[in-house]
Amino acid sequence: MARKFFVGGNWKCNGTTEEVKRIATTLNEAEVPSEDVVEVVVSPPFVFLTVVKSLLRSDFHVAAQNCWVRKGGAFTGEISAEMLVNLGIPWVIIGHSERRALLNESNEFVGDKVAYALSRGLKVIACIGETLEQRESGSTMAVVAAQTKAITEKVTNWENVVLAYEPVWAIGTGKVATPAQAQEVHCELRKWLHDNVGAEVAASTRIIYGGSVNGANCKELAAQPDVDGFLVGGASLKPEFIDIIEAAA
Ligand code: PEP
Repeated sequence: MARKFFVGGNWKCNGTTEEVKRIATTLNEAEVPSEDVVEVVVSPPFVFLTVVKSLLRSDFHVAAQNCWVRKGGAFTGEISAEMLVNLGIPWVIIGHSERRALLNESNEFVGDKVAYALSRGLKVIACIGETLEQRESGSTMAVVAAQTKAITEKVTNWENVVLAYEPVWAIGTGKVATPAQAQEVHCELRKWLHDNVGAEVAASTRIIYGGSVNGANCKELAAQPDVDGFLVGGASLKPEFIDIIEAAA
């Protein structure tokens, strides 16, 4: 089954109004493969979502970086899935390792968030990945399987889910996984989905890689059969993000 290449840009907690406008202009001027070939989604901080959405060309889409686990209400500082839908934001990133580590988001909490966001009609980039310690102790697959299981327990329809494998040791460190390391985990994850969710979901779900992807390493990673795209942090703020989108071709 053909899986459309997916490139997400996670801008994290960066940018001023001027800077996000500049990035949007650079993206708008880029010559990249068509929407039939690659799905491009950028994720500015909440406060810039609407301005970036209004500026971006129609074949590029936006994602929030998080949303609340259920319906809004007395949850100071949170942003609900309903609000994102109301603003016409189609995507949300859930379970990023920075939130798991710094804000203690558990596998169960992430699973609940993914399920709630999907139930409101959002599409979800669900992040999973092991720490260096977990990799070195040989528990990479057990960790990512447990993170994925917590999602599968709450989610039955995978049509609107992109799974982002982001080894924590590779995020923001400049230490990218080798193409073989990425392929190994993506292939195992697909097998896991096959055995635990179903053949159709395993064949159709996009599993993207994140962790120090840049213009120089993206081509070789993109050539791996189970790497269906990227979630890009640092490089998504730079013009080289366009080279990463081009890796789809
Ligand atoms: C990320 O934060 O999702 C990420 C992959 O960051 P970076 O590309 O900077 O490693």
